[in-house]
Amino acid sequence: MGYMNKRTRELIEKMKVEFTLPKNWNNFLYEVEKNHNLILKTKNTYYCTNCQQSFTYLNKGPKVKQETRCPHCKNKYMVRSGTLRKWKVRDNILLLDKIDGELIIRIFDIETYFNPEKQEMEHDTVEYARKIVDDDYREIRNERVSIAQCGPFVYHWKDDEGEWRTYDGDWYESVAQGYLYTDNLKNILKGTIYEKSRLWKLAKKEKDHIYLPDLLSAAKYPSFEMLVELKLFNLAYDAKHIYEKGTFKQIFGLDKTYYEFMRKHNITREQLDILKIYPTKDIKKLKFLQKYQYVIQDIQKYTTIDNFMKYFKQKRLKDAHLYRDYLKFAKELGLDLKNKRYLFPDKLKTMHDLYEKQIKIMKQEKIQKNIEKRVKDLMDNTFKNKEFIIFPASSVEELVDESKQQNNCVRTYAEKYSNGECDIYLMRKISNPKISVVTVEVKENKVVQKRTKNNEKTNQKQDEFLDTWQKRVLQKVAI
Ligand SMILES: [Zn+2]
Repeated sequence: MGYMNKRTRELIEKMKVEFTLPKNWNNFLYEVEKNHNLILKTKNTYYCTNCQQSFTYLNKGPKVKQETRCPHCKNKYMVRSGTLRKWKVRDNILLLDKIDGELIIRIFDIETYFNPEKQEMEHDTVEYARKIVDDDYREIRNERVSIAQCGPFVYHWKDDEGEWRTYDGDWYESVAQGYLYTDNLKNILKGTIYEKSRLWKLAKKEKDHIYLPDLLSAAKYPSFEMLVELKLFNLAYDAKHIYEKGTFKQIFGLDKTYYEFMRKHNITREQLDILKIYPTKDIKKLKFLQKYQYVIQDIQKYTTIDNFMKYFKQKRLKDAHLYRDYLKFAKELGLDLKNKRYLFPDKLKTMHDLYEKQIKIMKQEKIQKNIEKRVKDLMDNTFKNKEFIIFPASSVEELVDESKQQNNCVRTYAEKYSNGECDIYLMRKISNPKISVVTVEVKENKVVQKRTKNNEKTNQKQDEFLDTWQKRVLQKVAI
C-alpha cells in the first residue's frame, strides 16, 4: 500500500457516500449465480441443483465431469457424483461506475458453495477492488483481499470490508475481468469519450468474462462504433487496426457481399486477414486455413490454396510448415513444381527428409569447391622457418580433422572460410606436419585468432613465428 495522492483520497471519501448498487443488481447476480450449478448423478438419476428437478436417460446418460443440458431449466451444467460433499466455485463480477466524472471499475467476488444437506448452492458476493480508469487503472482495494500464495484471496466471512487503500504493487493486481453488469453502461458513459462508442451493445452481447480495460481501450478508436453498428463484435475489439473511412471494400479489403458471412460468424481480425488472401464464404475452409495462417502465403507462391487444401485433406496432413519447407527444398534442387508428382508428393515426410539431406550434401559440395578455389590464392602465403610451417586449410575434411586434433570448433568455420569471410591457416612443425600445433584465423591480412589444443594460448616461439609471417608475408612489409 503505497503513497496515496490527494485526488485518490478525495475519490475514496466520495465513494463512501455516493457509491450504491443499481436497482436491478440482485436480478443480475441471480443470473450469474445460475451459472454456478451442477447436475448430480446417482446411478441413472440426474438431479439439477438449479431447478431442483430430476431426470433420467433411456440409454446410457452422460458421465461424471461431462457437461449436459437439464431438460427442465434448459441450462448446461457439469455432471458430478451424487455423493459430492464439498464443492466451491468463484467468479469476478464487474460494475462500471462513475464518481466526480471519473470512471471506476468496481470488482466483486461471487462465491458459490454446495450445501450437501439441502442439495443446493449457496451464494455470496462481496466487493473487494476498484480501478480508476483514467489513472492507468490505479487499484484501490479493501481489507477483504489478502495476498495468498497463488494471488489475491478474497474473504467472504469478514463482516467488515475495512478501509479502502491504494495498491501500487504490480504483482498481485486484481484483474478487471468477469461478468459485466451492462444496464447502466449507456448512462454512465454519458459525458465521457465513450459516449458515442455503443460499447454497451457489444458488452450486452458478450456478458461473461469481459476484460474491461481491453474493451475500453478499443472503444477509443473511431472505427469501434462503426464495427459495433455492423455487429462485427470481434473486429470491434481490434478497432485500433481498422480504419473507419472509405467504402466497405476499402475498409475490409473485401467485397460487400461478404458482409453477411462476416457478421454471421463474428469473424476475428485473424480471419479477416485470411479472407483478404483467400476470399471464401465457407467457414469450414476459413477455419482450416486459420491453422495454417503463417504459411499460406508462402505456399501460395507454389500452388493455389484450393490445391493445397485438397492435398492436405486427401492425405490427412497436418504439418504445413513441413510442406512449405519441402517446397523450398524441391525448388532449390531445381525440381519441376508444375509436375504434380513433385508438387503433391505421396509421402511428404519421407520426401522432405530426403531433399533436406540432398541439399545439405549440395551445400557441402559447394563449400568444398569454393574452399579449393580459395586455397589456390592463399597457397602463396605458405611460409616456413627451420621449425614451423604454416599453410591454408585445403578442404572441409582438413578442417574437421583439425577440429578433432585441437578440440576446437574450427570445422564450423567452413562456410565462412569458403565464401571469404575469413582465412584459416594451419601452423605445424616441419618435422611432423600431420600433427596440429596452432589453428590460425586471418581477417584482412591480420591474425585475429591463434589457438593451440583446447583453445589454449600460443607460446613465445610460436608468436614470434606468426608475427614474422604476418609482417613479411601477409602484409608484405620489407624487413
Ligand atoms: Zn434444471
